[in-house]
Amino acid sequence: MWKKDSKNVVKLDRRILLVGVSLVVVLLIVFLTSFFKAPPSYYEMGGFTLGTYCRIVVSSKKGSKVLAQVMFNELERVYKKYNPNDPSSVVSKINNSNDWIDIDEETFVLLDAAVRFSRLTDGAFDPALGELIRLWGFDKIAEKLPSRVPSSEEIGEALKRSGVDKLELDSQRRRVRLIDGAKLDLGGIAKGYALDRAYQVAKEVDKDCTGFVEAGGDIRILGPKFGSRPWVVGVRDPRKSDSAIAYLYLTSGAVATSGDYERYFEVGGVRYHHILDPKTGFPARGAISVTVVADNAVTADALSTAGFVMGAQWEYVVLEFPKFGGSVLMVTEDGSIRRSPTMVVYEQAR
Ligand code: AMP
Ligand code: MG
Repeated sequence: MWKKDSKNVVKLDRRILLVGVSLVVVLLIVFLTSFFKAPPSYYEMGGFTLGTYCRIVVSSKKGSKVLAQVMFNELERVYKKYNPNDPSSVVSKINNSNDWIDIDEETFVLLDAAVRFSRLTDGAFDPALGELIRLWGFDKIAEKLPSRVPSSEEIGEALKRSGVDKLELDSQRRRVRLIDGAKLDLGGIAKGYALDRAYQVAKEVDKDCTGFVEAGGDIRILGPKFGSRPWVVGVRDPRKSDSAIAYLYLTSGAVATSGDYERYFEVGGVRYHHILDPKTGFPARGAISVTVVADNAVTADALSTAGFVMGAQWEYVVLEFPKFGGSVLMVTEDGSIRRSPTMVVYEQAR
């Protein structure tokens, strides 16, 4: 009896040991795989739209490739809808009429935001400079750059047909009217809007997706790299395309830059670029590049254009713009770098 019992006990011990060892091995595997979990892989997609090169870098459990395509389609949709050079666009429809035009909710909200940024920046940002931009020849993005400086008479005439005061919005009946021959040009805000829309459609599919979407250097962050790390965005040296003057570490929000190097021509050693001062009708002077970090890309885009126009008042821009939701990093004409105190937060690696 005793012998038999002792045999069983030994057998039982072995079994317990085997189960125990297997359990430890399984737990070890679980621990190691969770510890060395492969980081999410990013799908990258690039292409031309919004009149510039756009890039989408995204990771989603719902399918990164499909999500990138959905986002790219949204960029294209916004571009087609608000491109003043596309005869079928909403902007062309508004520009070709001198009467009230009924508009959809999306267009109303966008125009309303443009007017709000115009008021906020004392008219520096102006969505109704179409005539002035056309006179300078900066309207045809696909064609070659202009090379003639308009006369003061021509600029005076174009100014009479430009300006946000000639843009009327009727919120009751959701319609818009341009008076005195004014024309819309949303080039200073449309890229930001498209980036925000691409963000929105991505989040509707997968709220946990991460990555970013970029249009000609303006960026909307979808979420932190590998779920926790910041994306590092280099701020281009406005006079040396291959070097950076600062690095921004972003896990959310957006960044936009307006610079005099983007579209310009030179006559007699003077650079004439595409960001016009609505007060003078000439390319704005004072800044050569303005970068704005904000919660969303529309704010970053509109404020970077406005900050550029107000470059001569750089102190106002760097100190006041944070109150409008944008931190500023500006390079003034003499090459000095001026920044909002709030910008420091984004310049520190976390
Ligand atoms: P951005 O690169 O965002 O600064 O936008 C520049 C584009 O905005 C130009 O190519 C014009 O289409 C348009 N634009 C030029 N001057 C102004 C201005 N003062 N306010 C708003 N948009 C402008
Ligand atoms: Mg802009």
